[in-house]
Amino acid sequence: MTKVRVRFAPSPTGPLHIGGARSALFNYLFARGEGGDFILRMEDTDRERSSAASEEDIKRSLLWLGIEWNEGVDIGGPHAPYKQMERLQTYEEAAQKLIETGHAYYCYCSPQELEAAREQMQAQGQTPRYNGVCRGLSGEGRRAKEAEGRKPVIRFRVSDGAEAAFDDLVRGKVVFSGAEIGGDFVIMKSDGIPTYNFAVVVDDHLMQISHVVRAEEHLSNTPKQLLLYDALGWERPLFAHVSLILGEDKSKMSKRHGSVSVTAYQAEGYLPQALVNFLALLGWSPEDGREIFSLQELERQFSLDRVCKSPAVFDIKKLRWLNGQYLRALPQAEIAAALRPFLTGDWPEERLLLLAETLANHLEVFADVKKFLPLMEAGPYEITGEEELFILRQTHVKELLRRFGERLAVLEDFSPAAIKELIKETGKQCGVKGAALFMPLRVALTASCHGPDIDKLTALMGKGLALTRLEGAEKYL
Ligand code: GLU
Repeated sequence: MTKVRVRFAPSPTGPLHIGGARSALFNYLFARGEGGDFILRMEDTDRERSSAASEEDIKRSLLWLGIEWNEGVDIGGPHAPYKQMERLQTYEEAAQKLIETGHAYYCYCSPQELEAAREQMQAQGQTPRYNGVCRGLSGEGRRAKEAEGRKPVIRFRVSDGAEAAFDDLVRGKVVFSGAEIGGDFVIMKSDGIPTYNFAVVVDDHLMQISHVVRAEEHLSNTPKQLLLYDALGWERPLFAHVSLILGEDKSKMSKRHGSVSVTAYQAEGYLPQALVNFLALLGWSPEDGREIFSLQELERQFSLDRVCKSPAVFDIKKLRWLNGQYLRALPQAEIAAALRPFLTGDWPEERLLLLAETLANHLEVFADVKKFLPLMEAGPYEITGEEELFILRQTHVKELLRRFGERLAVLEDFSPAAIKELIKETGKQCGVKGAALFMPLRVALTASCHGPDIDKLTALMGKGLALTRLEGAEKYL
């Protein structure tokens, strides 16, 4: 069997998009699982929209996710260069081959002429396509056009009645009629830069790509590419078109649905392990319905035949949940370090570690820390919840708060352990334990009956604030 060789071939015209990251991941996982190669190629032929900054973002984001390529830009390999703009000569040679075999020809039609022909066809109710003016141009005809100063493009000849069919590894048999393929299409522009459909075929062939795994939006390009493979006498690779990613409203995922770039998720405090796990489940499902996978586990389990045909829905709640799972498994020092960018003011190391310990089980993403900070800072404080007010109005609460406050005021070691001990002792003194002891204290100190451990929270808020709140709670009793 031929060696599995796959590629991710982004156009560096923007940051790495979630959809692109998913394509890269599927290619990477498939290659790893099959002992194959994963290649990173930059399709930078769109001179206006390509940028070095986008290329950097794409590479950096892939590496952040743990997706490493073993051949391609930066690291090189047997088929270098891996940037299309550095391969122009290669496309020129392939285009010449097509001209020699009669599969392609020079076309001198100007944009205005093409537009006029298009409008005419539309007016006649026809689907616009190239009208074939330059199809049969003789050497003399060409020279005449060139004498007018026209610069030609190279067009691929789509024979009448052409049809293209292939077995997609995800979608099964796919057939395109001639009408769907359209007319003769441009493969080389007049500036010597190839079009996407042509460059991709030349590169995939020369780089010995065995499987083209890419987004469904390229499905309609595939028939053109198949005609090119056939005309060049090259063996076709296998294709797998992965379904679109939809937002929760079932329309195509876009900025309207939230962040779309990997970099944005990184900045929001998501973990790469969680994002990888989430992306893997966008369109692929394991046999046993498991949800948590490390990259290494995915490398072993992933298979193209469990990639599903129907679109995947981007469920941000699921991503947050997964992130929470990974966040909880991190060592405290790592959580503490990751929280720092979301904090303002002075957070000495010890206090930061206590914050991490206190909140670890309550955060899904690091940015969630912001919701908890008001608990530890002086500010408006009101108890409004029905359940909370009910708890405070129990008859034993007045005495409990008073005694707790008295003891707290003289507590020297304001550590969670000492505070916990103090709560217990106060409970004994008042003859209460369990919820009857903890709940009123929690409500008085935090205005809520839910939240992180109260001894830790109290230590974080400090004695002054804790006493102010205990006092403030009295008016609700
Ligand atoms: N440069 C194309 C893109 O970014 C690659 C498509 C393909 O994988 O063939 O969409």
